[in-house]
Amino acid sequence: MERKEIYKQAFERWGTEPQYLQAIEEMAELTQLLVRMQRENRKVTYLELSKEIADVNILMEQLTQMHDIEKLVAEQEENQLKKLVGYLEQSKGD
Ligand SMILES: [Mg+2]
Repeated sequence: MERKEIYKQAFERWGTEPQYLQAIEEMAELTQLLVRMQRENRKVTYLELSKEIADVNILMEQLTQMHDIEKLVAEQEENQLKKLVGYLEQSKGD
């Protein structure tokens, strides 16, 4: 089954609110993992990290599709990448 169809069925089955809550939960899990990596000096495997990143990526794709804002998100990604390039150029002398 294609990704878009999977997201469509998930949205039809569970509706909007559970998808928001799931997105919040997945972002929190990734946040916790990153905190553990940085602050608690605990070893995190690439498998754990990739799983949490995958969870967040999937939920972001679902929210994007749910609101039919693929084009806007792509534009904002381009804008944010341009900003990042600007920051990189500004910091060359640091
Ligand atoms: Mg997760």
